[in-house]
Formats: sequence, C-alpha cells, structure tokens
Amino acid sequence: MTDGTELIQMDLGADHQDIRDGVQKVCADFPLEYWQEKDEAAEYPTEFVNAMTEAGYLGALIPEEYGGAGLPIRAGSVILEEIHASGCSAAACHAQMYIMGTVLRHGSEEQKRKYLPGIADGSIRLQAFGVSEPTSGTDTTQLKTRAVRQGDHYVINGQKIWTSRAKQSDLMLLLCRTTPLDEVEKRTDGLSTILVDMREAVGNGMEIQGIPTMINHNTNSVFFDDLKVPVENLIGEEGKGFRYILDGMNAERVLVASESLGDGRWFTEKAVAYANEREVFGAPIGANQGIQFPIARHYASLKAAELMVRQAAAMFDAGQPCGAEANMAKMLASEAAWELGDACMQTYGGFAFAKEYHIERKWREARLYKIAPISTNLILAFVAQHVLGMPRSY
Ligand SMILES: Cc1cc2nc3c(=O)[nH]c(=O)nc-3n(C[C@H](O)[C@H](O)[C@H](O)COP(=O)(O)OP(=O)(O)OC[C@H]3O[C@@H](n4cnc5c(N)ncnc54)[C@H](O)[C@@H]3O)c2cc1C
Repeated sequence: MTDGTELIQMDLGADHQDIRDGVQKVCADFPLEYWQEKDEAAEYPTEFVNAMTEAGYLGALIPEEYGGAGLPIRAGSVILEEIHASGCSAAACHAQMYIMGTVLRHGSEEQKRKYLPGIADGSIRLQAFGVSEPTSGTDTTQLKTRAVRQGDHYVINGQKIWTSRAKQSDLMLLLCRTTPLDEVEKRTDGLSTILVDMREAVGNGMEIQGIPTMINHNTNSVFFDDLKVPVENLIGEEGKGFRYILDGMNAERVLVASESLGDGRWFTEKAVAYANEREVFGAPIGANQGIQFPIARHYASLKAAELMVRQAAAMFDAGQPCGAEANMAKMLASEAAWELGDACMQTYGGFAFAKEYHIERKWREARLYKIAPISTNLILAFVAQHVLGMPRSY
C-alpha cells in the first residue's frame, strides 16, 4: 500500500507491433467462416494450430537454448490478444504456453532437453492440463487421483474432468496426489506433477471421453485405471506439485486475460461498425445513446483491464509475486469482454442470432472466461482474503 505521495513507476510493457502484424498475417488465412465450420463440426482447428506453430508463435516463451524465441510473457500476451482480436481463437493451443512453464521452471535439465525443443518445433504437443476433477471442483487440494510409487513406476488411478485438448495432445501435465491427505501436514502438500505420455497411455490404463459443450473446446473426461508412468516423468520434487501449478496459474491468468482483451476489441469493432452503418427510423442506430453508451462504457472497462493485464505481465516478467494482479487482470478482462459481447448482441438486434454474423459464437466463447480457468467468485475470495485481509470463507 502507498500513501499516494511516492512516485510510482510502472512498466506498461512493449507493444510488440511487429509481433501483432505477424500474428494478424497468419490469422488472415483463417476467416470467421473457418471457425464457424469448426464450431459446427466440433473439430479441432489443426490447420490453425500448425500455422501458428510454424510461424513460431506457440514456442515464443520457450528459451532460445531449447529452440524457442525466448520472449517474455508480455509477448505471449500480445500474441493471444491479437489472435482473438482477429476473430480467431487461441483456445486450441494457448495451454502450451503456460504448461511448458512448469517443465521449464521445475523440470530437470534432462526433461527440458527431451521435451522443450519438440514443443517449440511442433513435433510434440503439450496441450493437456489435468487438474480439475468431478467431485472436488475448485477445491484442488481435495482431488482424488492417486499416483502410488511401485519400483520405477507410478501407478495412477482416478478421473479428471474438463481436460481440454486431451485427444489432440501428446503429453498431459497431471496433478495428482502422491501422499494421502491424512498423512500430510498441509493439505497443499503431497500433490505432484507428472508428465503423462498419452501416446503410450491411451488404451493402456487411460481412457478419454469427449464432453459435448456449448463451445468448440475439445474438452474431455479422462479415466486412469492402473496407468503405469515411469518415475522419471515426475516434474520437480514429489509432493510439491501444488506450488508448481500455482506458479503456472499466474501465467495462465495473464494469457487468458489477454484473449479476453482481444475478444473485447473484436466485439467493439463489430458493434461500432454496425451501429454506424445500420439505419432505422431514418438515422444510424449508433446515433442513439442507448446504443452508444454501453459500447463506450464497456470499452472504457476493457482499456482499464488492459492496464491491469500489462501490470501483471510486467510483474511476472520481473519475477515478482503477481497472484493478485494476474487474478484481477483475468477477472476484469473477462468481464469487460463479456459486457462488450452483450452490447454487441444488443447492437446487432435480431441479426446477432444469425450464425452468418458470428456474434453469437463469439459471445458463447467469451462466456467461458468468467468461469475457467478460475471462476470470478474464487478470484473475489482471493482478493478479499489475501489482499484485503478479510476472513476466509472456505
Ligand atoms: C470448456 C472448459 C474447459 C476447461 N478446461 C480445463 C482444462 O483443460 N484443465 C482443467 O484442469 N480444468 C479445465 N476446466 C475446468 C475449469 O477450470 C473449472 O470448471 C473451473 O475452475 C470451475 O470449477 P468447477 O467447474 O469445478 O466449479 P465449482 O468449484 O464446482 O464451483 C461452481 C460455482 O460455485 C462457485 N463457488 C465454489 N466455491 C465457492 C466459494 N468458496 N465461494 C464462492 N463461490 C464459490 C464458483 O465460483 C462457481 O461459480 C475447463 C472448464 C471448461 C468449462
């Protein structure tokens, strides 16, 4: 806290116009109709993911010594924002940027050499993040999936839910319990992160079942039945996985918030263009303040959210604790994008419902980020308790 008299300096981060231009160029080959077709067929956008990988954007955060571009998270943020502002969706590939961070920060040198270059050049996909479970929900420390060490293997049993991209990923970063809850001092202890090679696992103790959802997100239930995974696939120290995951979550929040910034820009652009061009009662509908004001108000919120995203990214890149900023950035950006989506729907009137305008699809997609990867209530609880010092509600 400051008394307001100190000079506060904040790095707003580079704008990376070159990266924005490059991303827009790739996105131009994937028009809205491409995404509509994928949505209707519930298909993974393989061509888009390949194009992004080939252009080097999905390996942007991997250090150069492991084959990536070695860019800071601010650059990752710009890449994802621009993908969404172009009307495309990074949901099919964004996880790679933050999951690989767990391997990078906590993996052994051998693991980094084994996996990161392949992730950077696209020959290995690390897109699946197995945290959520059906019974424990957001209360992650209560998760039930167990890994029991037997010689040089872990034997894994349990179930994950909402594991997105599991069918399209080669590797999954799995969070599971290695020490039972009643044998640990703190409930956050005894959880471990294990890399599961799904190319070997499926059919040998792992089963993946797709979950039909209101958006095209390729998400699944994953069942583990005596799946054997070599002990060498453990990331970092056994029992410390929860801490590793929390590290990665700050990156995840910043990156997902950036996608919401892009969505917000897209909705704003569409709403303004339509408000200016559609004439009813002999004048453009945009001349009515009832149409203008919601767009202007939520655009202002979006710009404020952008500042929070920039601050969180700057703190992350400076190695400072940024849990509060990353969470607030994600909450504010997802809410601003959602409100702009609603304003865009209202501006389009009945035409918002016609699939050919793509508003309804983008609106459905923008809703997710108020719930995943963490819901608004849990962010508010975090801010209330950890930032403002109010009592714990759970
Ligand atoms: C399309 C999609 C893709 C996803 N992809 C992944 C993925 O790849 N990997 C993965 O691990 N997970 C994934 N998730 C899961 C996602 O992270 C969770 O759905 C999300 O964190 C919310 O958890 P939950 O659904 O268990 O809700 P719950 O924890 O059951 O909560 C339900 C509601 O209750 C509220 N609530 C709960 N506790 C409190 C409290 N103490 N105070 C106030 N309110 C409370 C929550 O805010 C929420 O609104 C995905 C989800 C979706 C829908």
